[in-house]
Amino acid sequence: MSTDGRDLRFVVIGAGMAGLLAAIELRKAGHDDVTVYEKNSGVGGTWFENTYPGLSCDVPSHFYSYSFALNPEWSRRYSSGPEIRSYFEDIARRYEIYPRIRFDSEITECRFEDGRWHLRTKEGTRDVADFVIAATGVLHHPAIPAFEGMADFAGAAFHSARWDHDVPTRDRRVGVVGTGSSAIQIVSALADDVDELVLFQRTAQWIMPTENPPYSEAEHEEFRRNPGAMQTIREETARRFTDGFANILVDAESPILEMTQEMCRQHLEQSVRDPVLREKLRPTYRAACKRLVLSDRFYEAIQRPNARLVTEEIERLEEKGVRTRDGALHELDVLVLATGFRVDRFVRPMEVLGVGGRHLDDAWKDGPTAYLALTVPDFPNFFLLNGPNGPVGNFSLIEVAELQLGYLLQLVEEVRTRRCRTLCVSHRAMERFDRERREAARNTIWASGCRSWYLDASGLPTAWPFTFDRFREEMARPKLVDYATTF
Ligand code: NAP
Repeated sequence: MSTDGRDLRFVVIGAGMAGLLAAIELRKAGHDDVTVYEKNSGVGGTWFENTYPGLSCDVPSHFYSYSFALNPEWSRRYSSGPEIRSYFEDIARRYEIYPRIRFDSEITECRFEDGRWHLRTKEGTRDVADFVIAATGVLHHPAIPAFEGMADFAGAAFHSARWDHDVPTRDRRVGVVGTGSSAIQIVSALADDVDELVLFQRTAQWIMPTENPPYSEAEHEEFRRNPGAMQTIREETARRFTDGFANILVDAESPILEMTQEMCRQHLEQSVRDPVLREKLRPTYRAACKRLVLSDRFYEAIQRPNARLVTEEIERLEEKGVRTRDGALHELDVLVLATGFRVDRFVRPMEVLGVGGRHLDDAWKDGPTAYLALTVPDFPNFFLLNGPNGPVGNFSLIEVAELQLGYLLQLVEEVRTRRCRTLCVSHRAMERFDRERREAARNTIWASGCRSWYLDASGLPTAWPFTFDRFREEMARPKLVDYATTF
């Protein structure tokens, strides 16, 4: 209840994995006045926007599931994008979140005034809330390179996250720019069907071998009958991914990173026959410096007779295709830009105005930061899920969001029981966190000498640079001394 006796009102921005989770957990905690604004026409966030061939999640599905909604029907160890999207649709139905979502509604402004948040959508709708939970995701503003001659290309060109399904690729000449997780999945899926596949690689990737067996009907039956079997898989995966991997990313000297690199190296040596191609595919930086790519199909796909790896720099696009610096013209019908995302955007271009009209752009003028990846001074009762400086890497962002929600609900409870209006992290706590974060970032594997979306403009890793265990500890109980209260 708020200071004036009303139930607290919550606005959640985004109906992806984290936004649905927020709505579910708020309701479980007894908060019923919750509205979710979603700019798309469906739920799922990244799993709604990305529809490229081969889309899947490289985190095992029994781990990439809500802890309270394990799914006995996952078809494989690593499920496909459409299957994951269906899972979130099913969750939204089962937890009765659909009636609370306003689809096709993009929040353009959040203004803190008179102790509450005043919101406006692109369509002009207005709303007021005590708390805003921005679950807007990290990787959703496509980064489109400014190649010269882009408009001259007569074929179809689109970003991997904006796949144009009206454009056929079967028996066509298809180019893919990039070697991130998206490109590797696309190449692996398309190589069989296209006439020619040209992969434009700027930087080689370490590829971790992996297997993706389907679950048998007997296993499904066992999961349905005995959810403990899914829980066992989940715990075992968590041990490998979070405790075994996430915890060591922050220690560039870890011997486990050496082992990881050795596994990738052997994968390359054993899978790629042609020594020239093998050397082109060999990275010159340390494994896990960029987000590690998992694939059991990529090396096979790039060695197909109809596939070609181009390592010459792209000079420009022309009517017929891509011209590289060596003068070669690579004629194409379709060009896929798997060139990643503008990761410094977060909630922007939404205008967020905090205490005294302070603009979030001003708070983030040196790059986005958030205390414990959750909240920013001068923006009371405003929380980001999977926000800046959060844990990212080869593990489940669902686990991250669930831990954050646990923390956030404790703050909400403070507001409710102390009948204060707002909680706002102090500048002192933010500065302390940022100082420690920057210091620790230098020891991470991400700072070991490669280009990646983990780095800010100055080259410093922005992700959570401490162990995942520390994240768990921080999220277990808010330190209220770090927050200022208003009544
Ligand atoms: P990304 O990892 O940022 O990769 C972008 C690729 O485009 C890089 O290879 C980059 O080269 C290349 N590139 C960018 N601009 C270029 C230019 N001007 N000329 C040539 N090449 C250029 O993007 P992403 O593959 O979309 O993946 C982003 C993140 O999304 C992943 O790291 C992951 O967190 C998530 N994701 C996850 C999954 C999953 O299975 N869980 C699947 C897809 C994506 P450089 O390396 O040289 O910069």
